[in-house]
Amino acid sequence: MSWQNHEGLNAKVVGKIEFAPGNFVLKVAPEGWELSDFTAGQYSVLGLPGNAPRSPYADKDEKEVDSEKLIKRAYSIASSSVAKDHLEFYISTVRSGALTPRLYNLQIGDKIFLGKKCVGMFTLKDVPDGTNVILMATGTGVAPYMSMMRTLVSTSGLSSKFAVIHGALHSWDLGYASELQTLERMSQNFLYLPVISKPEEEQIPWGGFTGYINQVWSSDAFEKKWGFRPQAENTHVFLCGNPLMVQAALKFLSDEGFTEHTRQQDGQIHLEKFW
Ligand SMILES: Cc1cc2nc3c(=O)[nH]c(=O)nc-3n(C[C@H](O)[C@H](O)[C@H](O)COP(=O)(O)OP(=O)(O)OC[C@H]3O[C@@H](n4cnc5c(N)ncnc54)[C@H](O)[C@@H]3O)c2cc1C
Repeated sequence: MSWQNHEGLNAKVVGKIEFAPGNFVLKVAPEGWELSDFTAGQYSVLGLPGNAPRSPYADKDEKEVDSEKLIKRAYSIASSSVAKDHLEFYISTVRSGALTPRLYNLQIGDKIFLGKKCVGMFTLKDVPDGTNVILMATGTGVAPYMSMMRTLVSTSGLSSKFAVIHGALHSWDLGYASELQTLERMSQNFLYLPVISKPEEEQIPWGGFTGYINQVWSSDAFEKKWGFRPQAENTHVFLCGNPLMVQAALKFLSDEGFTEHTRQQDGQIHLEKFW
């Protein structure tokens, strides 16, 4: 029996765009049911059965997989919460991973499992009106920020200052760079600060930030563009992606008086670790 006949597959792939090798966008639409409302920044679940084929570019499965069982993982939604016909995800292939080499192998029209509930606390809900917002990400961690910015642009607009600091190895790994550059040109209130850690491998010289997110934070980029330095009194910071980056940023922000926002205590740092 073809893996596509698995009875748990309730959605289909309606779009696939590869930004860089193994680094891709998947658009998924429900089949025979309606997407539920969600808040920008939340995540859903994607899944495929064990007998769905892996990409030939990935490693073999590390351990034997149950061909009938769905392999499920959480993915942040990158699309606007206003768009109701499909959800967009930005995914990086982990060569040894169980699910991502199977997701990478999908073609438009293929079946997939999509969780019916969108969940998570990593949203702008607890940011007081008028507060500046700095969204820091590595790699695919920019996905929830795309949902936030796309949703704001198509609803209330940007009534306070927003910045995206996006870190990656190379310029070609900076997914959504052109959309974010366009938004920066169109909105006085939006700042896009990409940073790459391997500038020596660029094909044409890179004139932007090099190193890691902390180099952008400690630069004078905000003073130059906004005329002031973001502080805990006027700014909330979101951290998403690689847990090492999240830990490092938590440290340099705490040193400047920012505290973590939790269910129990209000603070200015919101975090989402991908693994
Ligand atoms: C709330 C939430 C939202 C998430 N959103 C996204 C998203 O938008 N896009 C996305 O690509 N992933 C996202 N993830 C990670 C995703 O759920 C999977 O963990 C990831 O895709 C790997 O799945 P896998 O089955 O291929 O690897 P697994 O077989 O589960 O192996 C996982 C191991 O691979 C490593 N790993 C996991 N993710 C990465 C990565 N991106 N880069 C390098 N190493 C990694 C870790 O060491 C981890 O232990 C999110 C996770 C959470 C908890």
